[in-house]
Amino acid sequence: MIGTGILKGMAVTARNFVGSYFEEDRLITVQYPEERIPLAENYRNFPFLPYDGDDPHAGLRCVACKICEKECPPQCIYIIKSEDKKPDYMGKPQFYPAVFDIDISVCMSCQICVEVCPFEAIKMDKEFELSRRERFDALLLRKDELSKSNAYYHRICPTEAAEVDAKLAEAAAAAEAKKKAAAAAAAAAAKAAPSTSPAPGSTSTPGASPPASAPPSHSV
Ligand code: SF4
Ligand code: SF4
Repeated sequence: MIGTGILKGMAVTARNFVGSYFEEDRLITVQYPEERIPLAENYRNFPFLPYDGDDPHAGLRCVACKICEKECPPQCIYIIKSEDKKPDYMGKPQFYPAVFDIDISVCMSCQICVEVCPFEAIKMDKEFELSRRERFDALLLRKDELSKSNAYYHRICPTEAAEVDAKLAEAAAAAEAKKKAAAAAAAAAAKAAPSTSPAPGSTSTPGASPPASAPPSHSV
């Protein structure tokens, strides 16, 4: 029958309206901004740049590879790569963004920048109270405003941040193990290499040709 849907909808509204005087669960509105409903963990708004530790410059994970800048559909990311390098979370020297801007008046919150970043260096924020009085450039967020600590990331997305930490710790441990294995292999190779100094009782004289040695093994 025509209008049944409307009547059903009004019945739900009436049930919630009357019920809200007796059951708190039926109160579906809050007195914002005094009252706030906690945001869902997967809620996202605009990107931010997480950094490790206390120093936003030293701990910034971004290495200015510009992949996010290239992939951003509305092209609202602007990066200038540094000329010098700083150590990343594994101690490896890396470039960093001298400039990293995002125009959030253009950003469409698609999260593609997050998905393409190979360094876990850009994540989605939940900050939504971003209205500004100025008309121009006020929503162009600079690196300083975009940089937020890993502790903040843990506060807004605890599950995801813990997964990222575990992944980075695993990568750092694998890199450390590889470094140690390479150092051990180099030490073993140096030990196995024939000595160039003449053995006691040897008849070789300075300037004479060195004894033939086994061909060097090829490392892989
Ligand atoms: S969320 Fe989407 S639109 Fe916004 S900066 Fe990232 S890639 Fe660009
Ligand atoms: S945020 Fe990630 S993808 Fe974008 S420049 Fe930095 S490291 Fe590269």
